[in-house]
Amino acid sequence: MEIVKAAYLISSPALADCPKADRPEYALIGRSNVGKSSVLNMITNKEGLAKISRSPGKTRLINHFAIESTPSAEVRGPVTSWYLVDLPGYGFAKVSHAQRKQWEKMIEEYVRKRETLGVLFVLIDSRHEPQAIDLEFIGKLGEWQVPFALIFTKSDKSTQKEVAANVRRFLDEMRKEWEFLPPHFVTSAVKKTGRKALLEYINESNASYAAAHAAAPVGRAQAGTTSRKPLP
Ligand code: GDP
Repeated sequence: MEIVKAAYLISSPALADCPKADRPEYALIGRSNVGKSSVLNMITNKEGLAKISRSPGKTRLINHFAIESTPSAEVRGPVTSWYLVDLPGYGFAKVSHAQRKQWEKMIEEYVRKRETLGVLFVLIDSRHEPQAIDLEFIGKLGEWQVPFALIFTKSDKSTQKEVAANVRRFLDEMRKEWEFLPPHFVTSAVKKTGRKALLEYINESNASYAAAHAAAPVGRAQAGTTSRKPLP
């Protein structure tokens, strides 16, 4: 798959304000500073695109980017339209209790009810050992039955061995509570590592979405094969 167009569309304070749910959608979330903007720019191959959603006033909103892609860079195939969504992250130090509650409400409503959300990408900093804040958020996704995948970021900042060890630790930690593990990707926005695998994954999800919607044009995207149930 190759991206042929990527443009900022709109920032919405709540699910009800989001653009019409008429195409597959992929959202990114993670701790502040995890490398979310860099991954968004890497996927779209557009330096500075995510800057828009970082501008003051937009950081606590649901930011939609309209994307168009073709199946491959070489072949001029049909154009697929989808959304990439930048969600406000968690783990800000200076956030009041009320603001946190508001964030939780907005995120929960969006991830549970956005019917076209194929996969939620949860970003994890590959330099660190498993962090409670990430595991807690993922636990919530399990409770809510939201399909998600993991993106380990900043892999160029440590040795391959250290990155592999941190990924393994994280997955081992998840295995304690989860029956199945989600797909995971290791990325470096600096070296553009992992871009191809992410694009392929999205391409496949878009194809599943199209097939599911051709059969039954309503309901949640069938894109993800990642719906994971925690063990009872
Ligand atoms: P966000 O707050 O989650 O959107 O994070 P940013 O994308 O702004 O990244 C936070 C910081 O980490 C910035 O200084 C980036 O340049 C840096 N960063 C992000 N991704 C990478 C990466 O893959 N490799 C390296 N070396 N630095 C990165």
